[in-house]
Amino acid sequence: MARVRLEGVSKRFPDGTLALDRIDLAVEDGELLVVVGPSGCGKSTLLRIVAGLEEATEGKLFLDQELVNDWPPQRRNVAMVFQEYALYPFLTVRDNLAFPLRMRRLRRTEIQERVQRVAKLLELEALLDRYPRELSGGQRQRVAMGRALVRDPSVSLLDEPLSNLDAKLRVTVRAEIASIQERTRTTMIYVTHDQTEAMTLGHRVAVLDRGRLQQVERPAELYENPANAFVAGFIGNPPMNLFAAHAEGSAEGVCLRIGPHRLLANAPRHWRLAGHEDIPPTLTVGIRPEHLELASGPGANTVEALAVHVEHLGHETLLYAAIRGELSVRWVARLPGMQNFAKDAPVWLRAPAARIYLFAEPVP
Ligand code: ATP
Repeated sequence: MARVRLEGVSKRFPDGTLALDRIDLAVEDGELLVVVGPSGCGKSTLLRIVAGLEEATEGKLFLDQELVNDWPPQRRNVAMVFQEYALYPFLTVRDNLAFPLRMRRLRRTEIQERVQRVAKLLELEALLDRYPRELSGGQRQRVAMGRALVRDPSVSLLDEPLSNLDAKLRVTVRAEIASIQERTRTTMIYVTHDQTEAMTLGHRVAVLDRGRLQQVERPAELYENPANAFVAGFIGNPPMNLFAAHAEGSAEGVCLRIGPHRLLANAPRHWRLAGHEDIPPTLTVGIRPEHLELASGPGANTVEALAVHVEHLGHETLLYAAIRGELSVRWVARLPGMQNFAKDAPVWLRAPAARIYLFAEPVP
């Protein structure tokens, strides 16, 4: 097991693309760190640099105390699991698991022991004589994990390992990965663009956008205290409602103007306005869908809107509404139970003043 540390790591490809921009990041020994971000933000590049498949153009990479920038992949003892399972179709599960050990010329008895141990850990014992085509997607994924773990790697890198599985299997295998990590205590870096995976799996989550690290935090903290509008909009499902508003400071808090409507924001712990001495005249306002409340008519911090679209999920209803007088601003509200709204019917949505986030940067 090992600690991974990146210090000012940048990657510029020969065509000029800056895939990573001065990344400082430490993954603790035994930690499962999830790296999340939109397509093309640099997640895979980061993993490939840790694995040694790609060279950083700037910065330092440490495994424990060792500077490993110049180490070839095989010296790093880092295992990688990709989204394509890359199992050998003509080898049984047993031989697929043994393959990385044979490559390292381990003794036959040691290979057998290690394969048995990993097969037991991943509950693959009954499948050892099958070929990959005789396995379900989840079982294949488990074999791919097994092949990474059988080497006793210091660090395991997983690049979207669940993206080929259907939704139901994804949930099962996700729980399985968490339990494997708990049992083996392997340091893991897990890349995904799926924020549910990030929130449920990660001890901490690193959010990347366009090659820059935005925030590294425990999941609950990331949800509660996003560092900026990008993280706020990326973490949460449905995403936080983010929109521009005119702002003015007052004794009670910050007064926000959206078309004909007024809102008050009064919880400075949710304001990300550092570096601004005064309240900027235009702000990005954030309200989570679960914090909007349905009101029966006009009132404090209540906005009139038109029901545009409704989604019934059984245990809750998602109401998409356009703000009256500012129809380009659309909010989604997450309401309990089954609720019905006629299309274009007026609705009143209350945004509690203590739940409103403010960001200095524009709407991402
Ligand atoms: P995805 O979620 O779509 O897999 P990602 O976050 O893993 O994306 P990367 O694959 O790391 O993103 O790519 C980061 C950026 O670097 C992208 O803009 C990509 O087009 C670019 N890139 C990746 N590999 C190369 C390459 N060999 N040459 C030039 N640009 C590259």
